[in-house]
Amino acid sequence: MATIFSRIVKGEIPCYKIAENEQFFAFLDINPVAKGHTLVIPKREVDYIFALDDNELGDMMVFAKKVAKAIEKAVPCKRIGVAVIGLEVPHAHIHLIPISKEGDMDFKKEHLHLTEAEFLELQQLIVSQL
Ligand code: 5GP
Repeated sequence: MATIFSRIVKGEIPCYKIAENEQFFAFLDINPVAKGHTLVIPKREVDYIFALDDNELGDMMVFAKKVAKAIEKAVPCKRIGVAVIGLEVPHAHIHLIPISKEGDMDFKKEHLHLTEAEFLELQQLIVSQL
């Protein structure tokens, strides 16, 4: 059965898309820990990030870097934090999170509840910086 992220790539489930190329896809996390929290995934369905081929993992990081640079310009922050957890969705993904202090990366704190308008605004701001 396809993962929820594969269904997002196929357009079966809506998302706020940020970027895509042949191999990778980036979209806003629906339950963000910070404004601009973005997920980067390989289109190929692989559960564990360290099960990716060396080249694929390298290319995914380069793709994530481009997305991170755009988020950095679009959202006020000191830098973009990078995290890999993967306990919830069995499809490899990198979390890109705008941060100004260590606590901004805390996944245990209450997540933000953004409106559709806020998600759309963030999407537009980030996409315009790509
Ligand atoms: P993890 O697997 O890294 O622990 O967490 C999965 C992440 O994917 C969470 O931050 C969660 O908010 C996000 N997520 C789960 N389902 C969806 C979805 O359907 N759409 C989007 N945009 N994000 C999702």
